[in-house]
Amino acid sequence: MSENPPSFPNAQQLADAALEHVRSVFRGNGIKKDSIKILSHTVQTHRMNAGTYLELKPVVSERNSPGRTTAGQLTTSRQEAMRLIDQAMLAAIANPVAKAQIANVLLERPDKGFGLNREMLPLDFLKKDFSWHEACPACRGSAQSSCQVCGGRRTETCMKCHGRGLMACPMCRATGLIHGNKCTRCHGQRYIPCDLCRRSGMMPCRACNGLGTSKCQACAGQGSKTYILSLAPQAITYFQYDAKSVPKAAADVIETQAADLAARQQIKIRGRVADDKENVLGASYEVEFPSGEIIFAIGKKEAKASLFGYKAGIENFPLLLDKMIAPAVRSLEEAANGIGSVAGKIRSATRYRVIAQAFLAANKLPDKKAVAALLKNFDLGLSRGMAEKLVMLADKTSANITRKPRYYGLVGGLVLTAGLCAAYYLLPVRSAIATYLPTPKMDFVLDILPAMTGGLLSSVAIKLSGSSAIRKALGHLFPAGKKNTMVSKVHGLGLWGYAAAAVLMVIFIEVAGHIGSGSPYWYEFVRNGLLSLIGG
Ligand SMILES: [Zn+2]
Ligand SMILES: [Zn+2]
Ligand SMILES: [Zn+2]
Ligand SMILES: [Zn+2]
Repeated sequence: MSENPPSFPNAQQLADAALEHVRSVFRGNGIKKDSIKILSHTVQTHRMNAGTYLELKPVVSERNSPGRTTAGQLTTSRQEAMRLIDQAMLAAIANPVAKAQIANVLLERPDKGFGLNREMLPLDFLKKDFSWHEACPACRGSAQSSCQVCGGRRTETCMKCHGRGLMACPMCRATGLIHGNKCTRCHGQRYIPCDLCRRSGMMPCRACNGLGTSKCQACAGQGSKTYILSLAPQAITYFQYDAKSVPKAAADVIETQAADLAARQQIKIRGRVADDKENVLGASYEVEFPSGEIIFAIGKKEAKASLFGYKAGIENFPLLLDKMIAPAVRSLEEAANGIGSVAGKIRSATRYRVIAQAFLAANKLPDKKAVAALLKNFDLGLSRGMAEKLVMLADKTSANITRKPRYYGLVGGLVLTAGLCAAYYLLPVRSAIATYLPTPKMDFVLDILPAMTGGLLSSVAIKLSGSSAIRKALGHLFPAGKKNTMVSKVHGLGLWGYAAAAVLMVIFIEVAGHIGSGSPYWYEFVRNGLLSLIGG
């Protein structure tokens, strides 16, 4: 053994780790730490054989290029290239060395290929090109093709007379007369035969110099082409293990998480190239892992679960937390509907650590993240449905106890906004700034500012007054001396803050218009448009 094998815990150490895990989840949830114990366990080492087998697939692609070149191995024909590809595929598994090279693609992975099922692995070291030459099919090897411009007719329409064969007489400028007498050149006919085509209307094709042929495009005038078949073999994986040789709970884990187990050292695994005897390609494994049933006492309740792997993973743990907090959840449901003392019910329900965490998470994070955080901290005994319910209830009851303060905050924010608008429009600050604008059409910028600032002020005011309520209700969740940094969500009131700030702004623009400070350009534009709509 050249490498240092990681040390693996024994059965007792694993049981202890599992107990620690259960205690860390259940502590503070109405159960004393000391009343959480292991009643019994059957954890022991199991062994099984497994294998990841490979099926080779020749993946072949074809390309061609003009002229005679060589890519990879030069052969005589497509048929020959295909035969060589078949041969290469057979050679790839012909001897133990070649087989080992392929199996090592699996064994050199961090997971040793254990659990890889129906995946395609590229076998780059088996890539190979085969090429051969053929006469160009487009020109049949002549390297020439008929001229694309004249289509092989060798001529094109005369560019001087446009095919008419005649041109205007240059002597009389096509009048037929010179100083009142008949033109001596055209004899009064005004046109003479074209001097370029001699009346034929056609001239030699300029593209091919009248030859009727040009360089073949397909082979770049070479007359032949190179064809290339590229072989890039892939291996398809098939994972197999003997499910009957291991306990059902262990087989379930292997079935669903096999590919993770080796990489995370949850199982001990010895891999080797599959034997010639087995007549297969791939890797064989001898696997060792701890597995067994483990029964916990949690207060007066019993919890039967299964343990798997050297990380002491716990599976099939009953939903005990769900059951234990059920009465507290019912009282929170009442609080969410405003029945009884909401703050009092929150205070008593949050004596359960899992519910307290739900409140802290729900007031800090978006709902989905809050649920994920809760399920991560309480990964035993808590169902996803219950985690979602807790976050929803925490959100709803927090909104209930902060409702009044949040409305006070909104009103306070809007009073501030009104003061701001009054100073801005009536002092008037705004018209003073507006004179610096390059064009009055841009002045809407000056009115976005107070509306946004007002909305922001209201949001901050809502959060501040809501936060003091939530701190009062959840303050007991923070250890003495640790600062309570809980901040309330605006719970939808924020939009009202922005809307009300915009309304306030319009009111003050109207007032400013009436006392002669002038209205913004855009405002006049919109108002006149609206008035003409109403006026018909
Ligand atoms: Zn050609
Ligand atoms: Zn031509
Ligand atoms: Zn003439
Ligand atoms: Zn002509």
